[in-house]
Order: sequence, then C-alpha cells, then structure tokens
Amino acid sequence: MNDLSNKTVLITGGARGIGAEVARTAVAGGANVVVADLLDADGQELARELGDRARFVHLDVTSEDDWQRAAEFAVAEFGGIDGLVNNAGISTGQPLESETVEHFRQVLDINLTGVFIGMKTVIPGMKENGGGSIVNISSAAGLMGLAMTSSYGATKWGVRGLTKIGAVELGTSRIRVNSVHPGMTYTPMTAQVGIQQGEGNYPNTPMGRVGEASEIADAIVYLLSDAASYVTGAELAVDGGWTTGPTVKYVMGQ
Ligand code: NAP
Repeated sequence: MNDLSNKTVLITGGARGIGAEVARTAVAGGANVVVADLLDADGQELARELGDRARFVHLDVTSEDDWQRAAEFAVAEFGGIDGLVNNAGISTGQPLESETVEHFRQVLDINLTGVFIGMKTVIPGMKENGGGSIVNISSAAGLMGLAMTSSYGATKWGVRGLTKIGAVELGTSRIRVNSVHPGMTYTPMTAQVGIQQGEGNYPNTPMGRVGEASEIADAIVYLLSDAASYVTGAELAVDGGWTTGPTVKYVMGQ
C-alpha cells in the first residue's frame, strides 16, 4: 500500500508537520521526493535527513513563477512528477463576524488558489508521462460546518470541490485526484494552539485522541500508490471518526 518505487512526488508545505511525514513515508516506500516549502532551513535539513532521493525547493504556493520553477526543478532532478501532494495551508479561527475581508482573501489565496495553481502546473507533465496522482489536503472542516472557521473551512470545502472537478476532467488521462480530510492532528500548526498528544486528550472524537502526522501520511501515500489505481474523486476522512457526527455515548434503555 505504500510502494512508491520509481515515482517522484512533490509535497507542498513539506518541511514540517504532515507534509514532512509524507516525505519520510514516501522515501521509505521507494519514491524520490521534492520537499517544497517557504521554510528553507527546515526543508533543507529534512532533505539532508532523507538522503539521495530527496531535494528541497523554495515554493510559495501562491506564486505561479515559483510553481513553474519547482516543476522544472523536479523534472531536472528526477525526470518528472508522478505525484503531487497539495498540503501547504494555514489555519485560522475566529467568529465569522470578526473575520476581515483582507484576511479571508489571504487564506483563500494560500489554501485554495495555491492548490489550483499546483494542479494546473503539473497536469501537462503528468499527461505527457501517461498519468499521475494528485492528493489535495482538505480537512474535517471541509466535511462539516465547524464554528470559527469561516475562511479556513470555506477553503477546505473548496479544495474538496476542486478535487471532484479534477477527477472528472482528468480520469481518462489516467490522472487520479483525491482529497484527504485529517481530523485534529498533532503538528506544529495545532501544537501552537495547545493541542496535545495522548489517549483521552480529544474527547470530541469517537477514538478519543488526536491523530499523529504519520497516520495522515499513510493515507496520503496509499492514494499516491498503485494500490489506489481505481480510486479517484474520493474524500478520505482520517479523523478518528470525528465527522461521523456528535460523539454521544447513548445506551438503549438507560
Ligand atoms: P503545519 O505544521 O503548519 O505545516 C504547514 C506547512 O505549510 C508549513 O511548513 C508552512 O510554512 C507551509 N506553508 C504555509 N503557507 C505556505 C505557502 N504560501 N507556500 C508554501 N508553504 C506554505 O501544518 P499541518 O498541521 O502539517 O497541516 C498540513 C495541512 O493539513 C494543511 O493544509 C492543513 O490545513 C491540513 N490539516 C491539518 C490538520 C491538523 O490538525 N494539523 C487538520 C486538518 C487539516 P510556514 O510555517 O512558513 O507557514
């Protein structure tokens, strides 16, 4: 399920958190990886840690020029891009009425327009190479209405929709497009708002705990691999059951 031999995968926001775990899991599965991020020092260090089959490239996902350069870099280093993980994103939380238009537009630019530019950039090369797999990282917030996420949640619903459109348009070109919807996961993004690891630390979910970045990475790598050869347009929740509904332990008759 995680065999990525002879494939090259570009991962945005790949320097830390979920993206870095995807890079580690992909290299372990035999892939070449291009770690792409704004965080140059962290990204370069990760590429060194991963060895010969890893490179780092600076990429701001909102910049068309950066995307062009990153794609050319992947072709020059490894011959092409077989898998794209649109993972870079920022998270925010405030009531809808206090969200500013300026901030809403900034989140939209990174979390949704960045995914669109990424898909648009790699599609011609994937078509030329006979196919590929694009995995867009949405969120549990893209499967339900989550309070305090007007900008973030809207972009994650958008990523889910863009994924379906890509799947429909690109199916016959043998390019699969799927979305992954992590629940609350322990990463630098969530650590900075006080999320902690461990059993019982997240009673909102049926499983009672937050996820580990490696658990999200396994699902992403599955979708990149040939084990998912007939999976496209899917939305894979990796959320400990969070989006199944409210966690109410009801026992009949009591
Ligand atoms: P993270 O630890 O903050 O990592 C995200 C990475 O993306 C950071 O290295 C960040 O760099 C980078 N990034 C931000 N803006 C960028 C841009 N314009 N261009 C390129 N890179 C950029 O976050 P994470 O928790 O691993 O989240 C990864 C993805 O999973 C995100 O899309 C997030 O929305 C999604 N997700 C996470 C959770 C969770 O609980 N952790 C839940 C659901 C969905 P900077 O530090 O410089 O911003």
